[in-house]
Amino acid sequence: MTRPRDGLRNVEPYVSPQIDVPVRLNTNECPYPLPRGFAEDLAERVRAIGLNRYPDRDALDLRRRLGEKTGHDAAEVWVGNGSNEVILQLLQAYGGPGRRALVFDPTYLLHRRIPWITQTEVEGIALDAPYDIGPDAVERAVGGDAAVIFVCSPNNPTGRARPVEVTESLAASGALVIVDEAYIEFGGKSAVDLVRSHANVVVVRTFSKAFSLAGARIGYCVASADVVEDLRRVTLPYHVSALTQAAGLTALDHADEAMAILDAIRAERDRLLEGLSVLPGVEVFPSDANFVLFRPPGPAGETWQALLDHGVLVRDLSDVVPGCLRVTAGTEHEVNAFLQALTEVLR
Ligand code: PMP
Repeated sequence: MTRPRDGLRNVEPYVSPQIDVPVRLNTNECPYPLPRGFAEDLAERVRAIGLNRYPDRDALDLRRRLGEKTGHDAAEVWVGNGSNEVILQLLQAYGGPGRRALVFDPTYLLHRRIPWITQTEVEGIALDAPYDIGPDAVERAVGGDAAVIFVCSPNNPTGRARPVEVTESLAASGALVIVDEAYIEFGGKSAVDLVRSHANVVVVRTFSKAFSLAGARIGYCVASADVVEDLRRVTLPYHVSALTQAAGLTALDHADEAMAILDAIRAERDRLLEGLSVLPGVEVFPSDANFVLFRPPGPAGETWQALLDHGVLVRDLSDVVPGCLRVTAGTEHEVNAFLQALTEVLR
């Protein structure tokens, strides 16, 4: 039988444990149910779909609405099944053998994995705590020959947003600069206006976090019309189902309600920052997002397991930032449960 491609079997599939426990704070989802009326409106939209037919291949209604929301033309918006898929398509179009993608470490694991999937080489520039992209890092990146540069703002898992000026400086390299704004609704300034002046800047966003729609798998990007045309060239026909498009349009109808709960999520994030900072021996990293990175005293894996034994699931990111765990800003009840469990674990 044909062997898979070289090195494939040396790589583990991407996993983030899905464990059924009372308090799940490991994947940065929104903790609240969808706005009232969303389910009914979605059901009505779905009822009107003729599922015997292929969906609108270009997802034009959804792209038009996203364009209105971001101040761009539908021709400058592309949608996919989650922002990860949009990033995959960007790498299929702009990466590939003989090309290099640059990341600022530590960052989101998929920004290394998606280049690997597309046989794009990856170069990492290691940042020191608190992990800002300083002038030296910018200079190194701009002086290099990467085809693609990733900027994650706010950065997962460290938490802080990247200044738009940093992205603008990186764009001077001529590389395709992919700004991953999965968490931008929670804090930081969006780079979306840069797209107008810089044809090589692409801003990628998701419905999985602030829109409470992780289960629907919807992501999009805002880019120059030329980049969007290139994405169309690598996209499989009808890739976004009519059901997904309906969910996205319904979510946009309810966007004001979804955004109204962001203040509550930010308040819980701030409570996490405060609560963690008073625990003895715990190091906490500042956050503009809906999660907080922290370093408990002692081995992170042991604290992770002890929290799980208390019914609280967080993310062990010690592979990415030594000794660190990441906790999502959940409901008031969930944040209380986490802080109480951690206090007991560290006692
Ligand atoms: N980018 C970042 C920085 C993320 O943290 C995540 C989700 N973990 C994603 C993208 C992927 O989101 P989606 O569900 O839209 O694929």
